[in-house]
Amino acid sequence: MNKSKVGVLSCSGEECLGGTISRLATRKVMEELREGKVVSLCLPLYVAGGQEERFFAKAFPVIAVEGCDKCCAKKATEKYSGDVSDLVVVSDIIGEEAAAGKTVSTRNLSQEHLDMVDKVAEDICRKVDKILAD
Ligand code: SF4
Repeated sequence: MNKSKVGVLSCSGEECLGGTISRLATRKVMEELREGKVVSLCLPLYVAGGQEERFFAKAFPVIAVEGCDKCCAKKATEKYSGDVSDLVVVSDIIGEEAAAGKTVSTRNLSQEHLDMVDKVAEDICRKVDKILAD
């Protein structure tokens, strides 16, 4: 497996805060914290048959980032490309109740939300670093 980059596939949870935090943390890792080392994959495109996304997930390690323990991104990856290398479940980090709460638009994020994004992003980074170091 090619370990020059790590793919991060966030769930697309539009209905709950866990999904929002999952997407924002993934973007922060890709654009700021591990720029150039991480490629984010689009779950809807992946499920719709995006060949590039599916090829990438077969050839490179992938971390699934999930809003809750239903683990939709991991299941989609396993169905179309194979095992994921690691998993981040937002509800395990910010708590199930918070993760199941109402989603917020990016314009209305509070400091508490931003702290949640940071915590999840840190966990993704730890896992990216471990994969790249192995
Ligand atoms: S993992 Fe949970 S939050 Fe994410 S899309 Fe699936 S059900 Fe929604």
